[in-house]
Amino acid sequence: MRRKLLFGNWKMNKTRLEAAEFANQGEYLLQLAKKADIDIGVAPTFLSLDVIKHTCPALRLAAQNVHYASKGAFTGEISIPMLQEIGISTVIIGHSERRQYFAETNLTCQKKIDALLENNMCPLYCVGETLDEFEHSITKDVIHEQISVGLANVKPADANKLIIAYEPVWSIGTGKNASKEIAQDICHYIRSLLKDKYGDIADEIQILYGGSVKPENVHDYLLMPDVDGALIGGASLSVDSFRQLIENVH
Ligand code: PEP
Repeated sequence: MRRKLLFGNWKMNKTRLEAAEFANQGEYLLQLAKKADIDIGVAPTFLSLDVIKHTCPALRLAAQNVHYASKGAFTGEISIPMLQEIGISTVIIGHSERRQYFAETNLTCQKKIDALLENNMCPLYCVGETLDEFEHSITKDVIHEQISVGLANVKPADANKLIIAYEPVWSIGTGKNASKEIAQDICHYIRSLLKDKYGDIADEIQILYGGSVKPENVHDYLLMPDVDGALIGGASLSVDSFRQLIENVH
């Protein structure tokens, strides 16, 4: 049985002090999540990962990126051993902002996913089409490519460590969210691709929807049978909004 998961992607927001203020309320949010029988987590900046870990150790954390090499001449990058040293085991890979502004490709995502799985870590792999691709009705072709290249080397034994997020690029931070029917259709399609590759293990893999999820619409998405939760940007930043997201799941 797949559990529902709400994951906040904080992007380049919150200083360490602001992250600590949020984490001070983390236990309160975790209690609400427990009552709602869902899991929650946040992906702060690299600098705030250890702050949250110390302030609220039970809150699930993800890094927003990682390099595939374990060390070397990659100025400005962070490695897997560095994340492991501070107890981080989940990493967002291929967020559309990384693809758009930092030239991340399906192939670099593949290398990162392979490196994470070799280290027994959990990739939260983001896929999704641009507005132009949506308008040309090639969403499924785009997703097919992202899944087949990104997960090309993932073996069935590792597949249950994956989390996939379907995030239509045109809906991220725009307030133009995809309908719950579109979210279900594409999440179902992703699961069918995972079934082709991994058989029944696909039924264990969490697939999230992301794109302008708010307290007012979170319930609609999470009702969908193939949508196992949400990756949430703007609405995950304040404790109050995160509280409302949790309370509105059911
Ligand atoms: C995101 O950053 O992954 C995201 C979905 O952002 P927002 O919820 O703000 O659209």
